[in-house]
Amino acid sequence: MKSLSEKVAGIAPSATIEISNRAKKMQREGIDVISLSIGEPDFDTPKHIRDACIDALNRGETHYTPSDGIPELLAAISEKIEKENKFSCKPDQAIVTVGAKDAIYEGMEAVLNPGDEVLLLTPAWVSYEPCVQMAGGKVVKHAVNQKTFQLDDSILERVNTNTKMIVINSPSNPSGAVFDKTSMNLVADLCQDYDLYAMSDEIYEKLVYGKEHISLAAIGDMAERTITINGFSKAYAMTGWRLGYAVAPQKIIKAMSKVQQHSVSQATTFAMWGAVAALKGDQRCVEEMRTEFNQRRKFVMAELGLMGYETAPADGAFYAFVKVAGDDMEIATRWLEKGHVAATPGTAFDAPGWIRLSYAASMDRLKEAMSRIRRVGGN
Ligand code: PMP
Ligand code: GLU
Repeated sequence: MKSLSEKVAGIAPSATIEISNRAKKMQREGIDVISLSIGEPDFDTPKHIRDACIDALNRGETHYTPSDGIPELLAAISEKIEKENKFSCKPDQAIVTVGAKDAIYEGMEAVLNPGDEVLLLTPAWVSYEPCVQMAGGKVVKHAVNQKTFQLDDSILERVNTNTKMIVINSPSNPSGAVFDKTSMNLVADLCQDYDLYAMSDEIYEKLVYGKEHISLAAIGDMAERTITINGFSKAYAMTGWRLGYAVAPQKIIKAMSKVQQHSVSQATTFAMWGAVAALKGDQRCVEEMRTEFNQRRKFVMAELGLMGYETAPADGAFYAFVKVAGDDMEIATRWLEKGHVAATPGTAFDAPGWIRLSYAASMDRLKEAMSRIRRVGGN
């Protein structure tokens, strides 16, 4: 038989999903595994959002909609972006996608030609590189400072005439770092000086603890060259709804729209009505979840500190990024097999020597997880 696609063969499976699947399998076998491997809020989607979706289903919102999304949701996104993220966004500069992941993929397809280089800042979330590869681009990696997790001028060494785009993710998965003004301005200057597009994945924007979230597109005229990625999974605990969106100059949205029309068509109709309620409804639910995450964050960081682990700043998202003494793959395997704690090795994020723990779990489970990690060791 003829061989399958070389392009797909060259793509790594998603480490976050693979490890979580492994933990789920162990749980099915009756092993009490604490899964801190996947980044997923453990809260239920707030009731008013679920109700809006159920109402939509009951009134027959079960048909195709315009491919870019229902006008009500595009209007809500445009309003939200202008009010909170402070840059101009008309409804036709937005597209609703099947999760933020789909927005990232479509954005790459819209911008890249074969051989175009895309700068990824490591540690980087697992799906950026495969999305670049699937779109035919070439990844160039640049490690951020491993103490501050901020950016400095050394990134200039990675830019050449083939560089087309830079991807940033603040707050960061996996490090939890939040880019400060200096780092953000550096990205903006780089894009302007070298005529680059930017993809700014802001899916964790609501989960910051004492730091300010800055939207890249709000700096100077960056909105003209930035694809802002966002979604509902993290802020509103809607991971299974598969809803995200991108905001970008209209010519990019039009190109993304073509990819969408010929692949997924659109996001799920009744789910989009839930998203309208999420954006337009009471935002107290977001703050309640953030407060709870913050308590867990403080607990986990304090425990890791007491055990002597060095950690990344953890100013945002819901991850503790922990430096381990030795091979992260080996230590994560030990935590899973001996301690029954699932975590994601930093190697998956191009940061060997680190392990990512998601603290999106109940306080009781986190307490138990910390005592198990203390018992099996890793530093
Ligand atoms: N970006 C980052 C940084 C993420 O951690 C995730 C989590 N899955 C996503 C994008 C995609 O989110 P979703 O597709 O669930 O909207
Ligand atoms: N973003 C989450 C994580 O990093 C969910 C899994 C995924 O989509 O990769 O764990």
